[in-house]
Amino acid sequence: MSHKITIKFKIELAFEQPTCSICGQPILGNQKMSLDHYIPRCHGGKDEASNLFPAHSVCNSIKNDYMPDEFEKNKEELYQNALDNWHLKHKDKLIVADALRQMQKKR
Ligand SMILES: [Zn+2]
Repeated sequence: MSHKITIKFKIELAFEQPTCSICGQPILGNQKMSLDHYIPRCHGGKDEASNLFPAHSVCNSIKNDYMPDEFEKNKEELYQNALDNWHLKHKDKLIVADALRQMQKKR
């Protein structure tokens, strides 16, 4: 990751409550965060600010290498699978369960 992006990211963190670009929920101070590649690197996505968005680490793991449209289509199933089959830490479990509740509300 380039130095520039790290600085931009740090500024964003300092001034606003970051929102997870994947599940849409706020990223709280005690939650693990990462940078999501909107277009995954394996699909040619670059390490550029325009392609990088804050996300919960666990959401980023669930999105994995999916392209955005493909991920949207399978989102609920992928979150449900993570909740049922992954050995998630308690904190991460709460994030995944919350995200699922939000998706089910929208249906
Ligand atoms: Zn999230």
